[in-house]
Amino acid sequence: MLLKQAKPKIVWSTALLLGITGLTALIAVPWYELTVGFEWTHWLAFTIFAASNGLAITAGYHRLWAHNTYKARPVMRLLLALLGAASLQNSILVWCSQHRRHHRHVDDNQNDPYSANLGLWFSHIGWMLREYPNGADDFSNVKDLQRDKIVQWQHKHYYSIALIMNIAPPLILGAITGQYLAYFLLMGVLRLVYSHHTTFFINSLAHFWGRQPYTSDNTARDNDFLALLTYGEGYHNYHHIFQNDYRNGIRWFHYDPTKWLIKASSWVGLSYDLRVTPKFKIRQAMVTRQLEIANDKLTNPTLINTIKQRIGTIEYVQWRAAIDKQMAHEQQQLTELMNEWKTIHARWVLIKREQLAVAKQSMEASLDFHNLKHKLKELEFSLVQQYRRVSYVNGVLS
Ligand SMILES: [Zn+2]
Ligand SMILES: [Zn+2]
Repeated sequence: MLLKQAKPKIVWSTALLLGITGLTALIAVPWYELTVGFEWTHWLAFTIFAASNGLAITAGYHRLWAHNTYKARPVMRLLLALLGAASLQNSILVWCSQHRRHHRHVDDNQNDPYSANLGLWFSHIGWMLREYPNGADDFSNVKDLQRDKIVQWQHKHYYSIALIMNIAPPLILGAITGQYLAYFLLMGVLRLVYSHHTTFFINSLAHFWGRQPYTSDNTARDNDFLALLTYGEGYHNYHHIFQNDYRNGIRWFHYDPTKWLIKASSWVGLSYDLRVTPKFKIRQAMVTRQLEIANDKLTNPTLINTIKQRIGTIEYVQWRAAIDKQMAHEQQQLTELMNEWKTIHARWVLIKREQLAVAKQSMEASLDFHNLKHKLKELEFSLVQQYRRVSYVNGVLS
């Protein structure tokens, strides 16, 4: 409320960029299609560039840098930094700092840069159009990223990199084919607008529309349709509760190309240390949420009245006593299972660490053995050489 009353200054650079590119995509793209017509090659260039931009934001900016859900080799980080810059969503450092604040203060109108509680427009685009205090640069929460040389380099030269990454690809294809305008409109402008708004949907629609299977502590939702548009980021309810997981769609049938890209890159050694949430923790969240939904229903007077009318007041008393007993039992069982799991899991982690230490020791021992064997061979060879030298001297002397 305070933010709306204050009416901070408009950020004209952002407003003009989003406005001009948006209008060009809405007017010039259909005009070109109707008057000249795009070819399939133009659409192919659009699709590939849009997907690589989008995936650089989801796999790079979001899951790698903002949440550290995996580690990536420099060549992969460089590629993600370049293609992410093409999306014109600010540098990695700025983007991640805002996003980490979003997670930490989700739905808090004073501290969440794109709080969904300030409405669909604000969380989608409004937060960028004015100089709101909660959107101001503050890098105190991205100190780890400031140690990443590629992140620092991209931040320092962001405008030049972003400009080159936007102009060069359509220009090169235009120069090869002579069809500058077609590539400029589809691969340049429409791709940029598409990349912008599909990412913005995560901050806006994914906090308004969909299911809440894991938590109701915040407005984030799971939405399969949004996952299709956002390279898998639509499973936002899961993401807000388990933000350290490299996956957003955890089931095999969930559409999450970002997860597949990260996994596939780990097979060729480009990424490693992929983090996943223990299945028990996920199930625990799901059971807790189901108990919460049941409790909400049992305290809903309209629903209770309907049940009373359907089964009769006397039967209701018996039914209610039975269901209250079951709910208490389920709650108790959940607490017991959680406590038991914690103890056993801690022991499991300890043993696994010990096993890894033993494996490391045995690897070091085998390496040592190999080095010692090599050294012994060298000493033996030195003696052979010495024997030859002395024999030669003896030969000369005889
Ligand atoms: Zn996130
Ligand atoms: Zn969110």
